[in-house]
Amino acid sequence: MRTAVSTLSVERPRDLKHALKLLADSCASERLTPMAGGTDLFVYLNAGTQQGTRFLDLGGLRELRGVRAGREGSFTLGALENFRDLQRHAALAQAFPSLIAAAHQVGAEQIQNRATLGGNIANASPAGDSLPVLLAHDARVQVQSVRGSRLVAFAELYTGYRQLAVAPDELITAIELSAAPAGAVHFFRKVGTRAAQSISKVVFAGLLHLGRGGADHVRLAWGSVAATTVRSANTEAALLREKPSLAVADRARAALKTDIHPIDDIRSEGDYRLEVAGNLLAQFLRSAHVKYARD
Ligand SMILES: Cc1cc2nc3c(=O)[nH]c(=O)nc-3n(C[C@H](O)[C@H](O)[C@H](O)COP(=O)(O)OP(=O)(O)OC[C@H]3O[C@@H](n4cnc5c(N)ncnc54)[C@H](O)[C@@H]3O)c2cc1C
Repeated sequence: MRTAVSTLSVERPRDLKHALKLLADSCASERLTPMAGGTDLFVYLNAGTQQGTRFLDLGGLRELRGVRAGREGSFTLGALENFRDLQRHAALAQAFPSLIAAAHQVGAEQIQNRATLGGNIANASPAGDSLPVLLAHDARVQVQSVRGSRLVAFAELYTGYRQLAVAPDELITAIELSAAPAGAVHFFRKVGTRAAQSISKVVFAGLLHLGRGGADHVRLAWGSVAATTVRSANTEAALLREKPSLAVADRARAALKTDIHPIDDIRSEGDYRLEVAGNLLAQFLRSAHVKYARD
């Protein structure tokens, strides 16, 4: 049953310090639910599955906004940056084309105008479109509470299905990204029921850099194939120190079957997902082969 709006209350903090205090104080009774763009939360309210009735509106927190370029091609992205904001940032698009490709795939434009990167991370759906990109780029997530701030490696952020290594009194404030090695091949592809406005059956972000002795930097990150976003270690190992070729691609595809074991669910069947994941891997390796044959 839909949650009655009259039962809900919203706190509007003055600044981040105030927000963290309100959040910490609320943990003793009913925890305030942080609200960013609200695109997931309103779905839960509509479905009657949202647990809390008290919300902490993050919308006015300037400390959680902005895209800042750092040293050696790194970037820090405020958690409140929405996917439309990210698409508009030319330097970010240059350094992290897969993030921008993912930003274009989140729902429709109306959703992209509100949906935030921090919300996508905190919502912790294994189908979240930005998550494989963040995993492939070894992102770090800044979290803050009244107790202080810390960085969580994205690879250690999810401890199980929709479980985050973030305490109830912590907010996600920013995401740090380091540049991929210069000349690396970036790849992002989401496969859903149709091209627009669908949740993924498989979503994949790949990064590969070829050094003198073959591939020396490989990241293969997958969404919608496990309880959390995952990398495929055996497949990456099959590619390291190799030059992309048909034979290597065949070996990698075989290794992928040992890495991921997607399940059947309402959106797709496990066997189909595995087949699609193999096709995406092959497509990525073909594009790497073409690029490095040309260069
Ligand atoms: C029609 C529709 C289509 C969609 N399509 C896609 C899609 O194609 N791909 C996709 O990935 N997602 C999709 N979504 C899901 C959603 O838009 C994204 O997950 C979005 O990024 C969530 O961000 P938000 O700011 O709206 O989060 P909110 O709804 O405000 O919050 C989501 C969760 O994150 C928590 N949270 C938010 N910000 C923070 C923070 N800074 N610190 C701690 N906790 C926080 C909230 O408490 C809540 O639990 C879709 C949603 C709708 C309604």
